[in-house]
Amino acid sequence: MPDAILYCTRCLYPDTKPDLQFDGDGVCSACRAYQGRAEVDWDKRRREFLEIVDEYRSKDGSNYDCLVPVSGGKDSTYQVIRVLEQSLNPLCVTATTDSLSDIGRRNIETLKGLCVDYIEVTLNSRVRRRINRLALRQVGDISWPEHIAIFTVPVRIAVQHNIRLIVWGENPQNEYGGPAAVTQSRILNRRWLEEFGGLLGMRVTDLIGQEGIEKRHLIQYQYPSDSDLQRVGVTGTFLGYYFPWDGYSNALVAQGHGFETFPRLVEGSIANYENLDNYQTGIHDYFKYLKFGFGRATDIACNHIRRGRLSRADALRLVQMHDGKFPWTYLGRHIEDILGEIDMSIDEFIKVCDRFTNKKLFRCANDGKPIKDARGNLMKINDDNP
Ligand SMILES: [Zn+2]
Repeated sequence: MPDAILYCTRCLYPDTKPDLQFDGDGVCSACRAYQGRAEVDWDKRRREFLEIVDEYRSKDGSNYDCLVPVSGGKDSTYQVIRVLEQSLNPLCVTATTDSLSDIGRRNIETLKGLCVDYIEVTLNSRVRRRINRLALRQVGDISWPEHIAIFTVPVRIAVQHNIRLIVWGENPQNEYGGPAAVTQSRILNRRWLEEFGGLLGMRVTDLIGQEGIEKRHLIQYQYPSDSDLQRVGVTGTFLGYYFPWDGYSNALVAQGHGFETFPRLVEGSIANYENLDNYQTGIHDYFKYLKFGFGRATDIACNHIRRGRLSRADALRLVQMHDGKFPWTYLGRHIEDILGEIDMSIDEFIKVCDRFTNKKLFRCANDGKPIKDARGNLMKINDDNP
């Protein structure tokens, strides 16, 4: 029998989660990073933010003070509200998601209604869908091109507009666990992207020559050159370093400014206020479950546990109900329609799922095929989260 999974004694994170570390008390690095926030002098951090802002602010009003990458989600809506509160004049930039949902579009329009200048960059959809399909087949991540573009596009725009400061949202290593040194980082740069941006060992240049993809199709997927970055002096910083970050309260703030939530729980989640802007996200999250045995419901439950809003026992029950179900629909759209966009059949999709299913975590038949229930859901070998 494979070894039992080790779970954090405070939250529900398993030791299969990439980049997560556990200490001698069995507490994960995400919980420790959150605990560390109680020691932070947030007034001091706020003053630090104002100092940085003053340093980068356009003194004569001839340019933007900063660039805010936005998706139209609750966090980016909150970021824009915070930035406007500091009397900054931001340029907001969206890299359109892989398969923008109707509610996602409405939330972008609401964000634009906050009265900011706004640029949306939409990449060649035929090429994007080929990359979605390639990345799903090769590295088990349909969202790979989106995770590149949301980092490269805003930085490229910053260089083009000579904007020196980019205000990102949360530091994912602080929020969801990562190496200790990185959880305290306030800087996002090329090195961060390559190490933590979720590229899974596939490089943009690897795409050239596959399925008719040429170098000229990939311009926006390229991070600007070091010389361009140095010429402008672009710095990226995490707003979550300066203001206490909480996705749930961000959602409340965003809703107060017109942000629309989904009318019911998002499939595979235990919330209705996040990941509303891309129909492919259900597939992305399901592959995380296939590889590592936990999904989006676990992430959200852990955030609530750390903030004292859910007991570990209640959170575990919710996760067992909602995590890792086969993604038959997402945001109400049927999987065959979602796959149809990338020209993949449900039969091929299931074969790809089986190929990426972690056989150390899920029960398989003697022929190696994963065992599923009538709804296509997997069964864990050791469903032993205490
Ligand atoms: Zn934990």
